[in-house]
Amino acid sequence: MEIAIIAHDGKKAEMIQFLMDFKAILTAKNVKLVATGTTGKHAEKAGFEVLKFLSGPYGGDAQIAARVAEGKTNMVFFFRDPLGMHPHEPDIAMLMRLCDVHDVPLATNPATAELLIKSI
Ligand code: PGA
Repeated sequence: MEIAIIAHDGKKAEMIQFLMDFKAILTAKNVKLVATGTTGKHAEKAGFEVLKFLSGPYGGDAQIAARVAEGKTNMVFFFRDPLGMHPHEPDIAMLMRLCDVHDVPLATNPATAELLIKSI
């Protein structure tokens, strides 16, 4: 199973903490992680193997949206910063829309992501 992880700057620490908290499940279920560039770098530093795409503002969200559309990504953890402004808002909306189009589970905060990861 492939899970995409994306975290806005204000949420990157929460994403890494989340990955650490559920490392046992990720390993046991043989989850393949894919990520936007900077989120992926943080996860690698924390010891996770990650397929990294471009940084979000440079098209990384769009690349992950394409994987969702192609049926390659099965679940998306997208920790958005609701208090921040993002130049790539159209790409963010596209990713969320494509998750809905293809009925791919999408968690936009750690509480929802926890429910999802416990279900795999
Ligand atoms: P980043 O992108 O992981 O490269 O910071 C995330 C985003 O802003 O969508």
